[in-house]
Amino acid sequence: ADTKEIYMPIEKGDQRLALVIARKKGNYFDTTRLKLCSLISSHIAVAFDNARLYYIAITDELTKTYTKRHFRQCLDQTFEDYQKYGHKFALLMLDLDYFKRVNDTHGHVAGDAVLMKFGEIIRYSVVENDLAFRYGGEEFAVILPSTGEKGARYVAERIRSITEATTFEPGTIDLKMTVSVGVETCPAASSIQELIIAADKALYSAKKQGRNQVVFAQTSADTELQEES
Ligand code: GH3
Ligand code: MG
Ligand code: MG
Repeated sequence: ADTKEIYMPIEKGDQRLALVIARKKGNYFDTTRLKLCSLISSHIAVAFDNARLYYIAITDELTKTYTKRHFRQCLDQTFEDYQKYGHKFALLMLDLDYFKRVNDTHGHVAGDAVLMKFGEIIRYSVVENDLAFRYGGEEFAVILPSTGEKGARYVAERIRSITEATTFEPGTIDLKMTVSVGVETCPAASSIQELIIAADKALYSAKKQGRNQVVFAQTSADTELQEES
């Protein structure tokens, strides 16, 4: 072979994932080097495929947020970082208000379209290090690393107000939705268990107090007040 430059496309089915270009100064590629290049590109292809499969495994297909299984992993990791480095963090629990009505009135397909759009709203409302999850049917969770009460309130309020202002249009109906949010932070909560339970309780309070609102767990609300005074 008298090649000085070779192109190795990394493909999966009819999808091009990457292009590996190998150049050689001076001499041409000999058979051994060509074989090595082919080996390298097949390793890269496997790595790409693994990354793709990992993404599929941790992502909810409908909402493009992470899965509940991944939630446990991320929360454990975030809590560990908090214990090691003292970075405070926040957990938001979100639940769409009267979502059952959407299904009952407009059908399951409309319900799914709302969930898909709400997934977009959450992903749009957070920044790169924040993590959004589908916790259950129409229930979501957001982990905000290195974020205190003030930041948590800002993000939660942002999601709430964008949701309220959005017209969900599954097909031709103009649909309005609202969301309730419960918030707890660490170190206001001293364990993962406490954190989840407190955020859940706060969400329940938000529902009871009339929905379409952000409620902080009592422990976080106290911390926020201290911060401000
Ligand atoms: P609330 O304001 O108290 O939250 O009322 P709600 O109707 O939203 O709450 P509830 O928990 O009673 O109902 C949730 C409904 O979400 C039940 C089910 O019909 C619907 N649901 C759950 N998962 C999915 C899904 O994947 N797709 C669709 N279309 N609907 C779902
Ligand atoms: Mg609901
Ligand atoms: Mg619910």
